[in-house]
Amino acid sequence: MTLKCMICKKPIKFLDPISSYITEGSVNGGWNIYLILACPCCKQKYNTFIPTGEFTLLDEDTE
Ligand SMILES: [Zn+2]
Repeated sequence: MTLKCMICKKPIKFLDPISSYITEGSVNGGWNIYLILACPCCKQKYNTFIPTGEFTLLDEDTE
């Protein structure tokens, strides 16, 4: 099962990172990451907000 780009309909296994701005949330006053990613095939950009409270720490040898 694969995820398909909504524009070019090609199966994608990853998205290219474009930017990840830190913004202060207007609703709960918390901090969010305004994340912009792009399809590696057609370069269509997608965005989402991720609350920084969902972050977890990675070990140094973890990718
Ligand atoms: Zn695409």
